[in-house]
Amino acid sequence: MNFSTSEALHQEALKHIVGGVNSPSRAYKAVGGGAPVYMEKGEGAYFWDVDGNKYIDYLGAYGPIITGHAHPHIAKAITHAATNGVLYGTPTKLENQFAKMLKQAIPSLEKVRFVNSGTEAVMTTVRVARAYTNRTKIIKFAGCYHGHFDSVLVEAGSGPATLGTPDSAGIPESVAQDVITVPFNNIEALKHALDIWEGQIAAVLVEPIVGNFGIVEPKEGFLQAVNDLTHNAGALVIYDEVITAFRFTYGSSQQIYGIEPDMTAMGKIIGGGLPIGAYGGKKQIMEQVAPLGPAYQAGTMAGNPASMAAGIACLEVLQEDGLYEKLDQLGEKLETGILEKADKYNISISVNRLCGALTVYFGDGEITNYEQAEASDGESFATFFRLMLRQGINLAPSKYEAWFLTIAHTEKDIEETIAAVEKTFQHMQT
Ligand code: PLP
Repeated sequence: MNFSTSEALHQEALKHIVGGVNSPSRAYKAVGGGAPVYMEKGEGAYFWDVDGNKYIDYLGAYGPIITGHAHPHIAKAITHAATNGVLYGTPTKLENQFAKMLKQAIPSLEKVRFVNSGTEAVMTTVRVARAYTNRTKIIKFAGCYHGHFDSVLVEAGSGPATLGTPDSAGIPESVAQDVITVPFNNIEALKHALDIWEGQIAAVLVEPIVGNFGIVEPKEGFLQAVNDLTHNAGALVIYDEVITAFRFTYGSSQQIYGIEPDMTAMGKIIGGGLPIGAYGGKKQIMEQVAPLGPAYQAGTMAGNPASMAAGIACLEVLQEDGLYEKLDQLGEKLETGILEKADKYNISISVNRLCGALTVYFGDGEITNYEQAEASDGESFATFFRLMLRQGINLAPSKYEAWFLTIAHTEKDIEETIAAVEKTFQHMQT
C-alpha cells in the first residue's frame, strides 16, 4: 500500500496544526508513530484515503457512526438543514421533536438540554449535581474517559482514600482534590470512598458499560450497588452514556440493565455524525439549570438545526426492526473468527464484546478493569494494527479503543476482516 500523499499531508499539518492532529487520539503515537492515514471519502462500511486505498472501517469515528458513513437518510436531513439555514440562535421545532424522541427512548430523561459535545454534556451534569447537592467532590472510575474538562482529567493517587492528581498539565491541584477515583467493577472500593468522604460527595460518575479501556461490561450487581450506595450517601448517580446511548440497543444501557441514574450525559451517535451532546435527568434536578435555576449552562451552537436534523434522522434509521440483532450477529461472527485464528496461530488474546462493539486485548486473562487493560500488550497491538491497516482494515490506533460495527457492514466484510486477521496472526507468530 502506498501512503505517500498521507505522509506529505502529515508533514504539512505538522507545520500548522499542533501535533498535526485536532484530537490526540488520531495520532499514531501509541502504535509506533508516523503519519496517520488521511481519509477522503466514507461510504457505508468503507473509507478511501487520499492515496486511493480502500478500507473496511471499524473506527466508526470513535463511536458516532453506527449507520455507516454518508447514510442517505442522514445526508438528506443535513442537506436540507444546510439549505434552510444551519444556525438561528432561536428555538426551533426540531429541538422539541428531538427532545421528545430521546425521552421516549430513555425514560429516565424527564427533561433534557442539548449541547455541542460529550465533554460539555458530562461537565454540565457534574455542575448540576454540585448545585443540587450543595457538595463539591465527585467519584469516578479509573480508566473511564469523560471528556477533557478539568475535573475528569484526574486519576487516582493510590486508592479510594486518596484525592486525585491531575492527569494533564494545566489542571489546578485544587480541582483534582475534588475528584476521587476508584477501580471499575469494585463495589468495596466505592463503598470505602463514600464512607471516607461522607457528606462530601455530590455525584458518582460512571460509564455504565465502559468504552474507554475497551468494551468492559459491569459485573452482575455492580450498577445496582452503585445506585444503592450512592443514594444512601445522599449523592447523585450520573451515567456517561456518550458512547453507549443507542450503541447496543435503541435507547441506553439503562434499558439493558433496568437501572436508572439520576442524570445522563449523551453525545456521539445522537448527532448522526455532526457535533452534539445532550444531558438530562429527573425534573427536579434538571430544574437547577438556567433560566429556571441557579446552575448556568449555555451555548451559541447548542441545539443547532443541522445537528438536530442529523440526530433525528439517525434515530429514525435506528428504529428499524432487527437492526441491533443484526449488529449482534455480525459482532459474534467477527469475535468467533478472531478467536479461532488466535487459537490456530497460538496468539494470546481475549475479546470483550457487546453487540456490535468489541475490543481485542493481547495477553492472557480476562479484562474487567483498567489495571488489567493497562497490562495488556501494547506492542503486539501496535504490530497488529499496522498489519491490519496494510490489508485495508481501519482500526483505532490504540489498544484501549473499541472496534465499532455499523449496520452497513456485511457478512462478506466480516469474512474479509477475519482473513486479514489470519494473515496478521500468521505473521505475528513467526
Ligand atoms: N464520555 C465518553 C464516555 C466518551 O467516550 C467521550 C469521548 O470519547 C466523551 C465523554 C467526550 O465526548 P466529546 O469527545 O464529544 O467531547
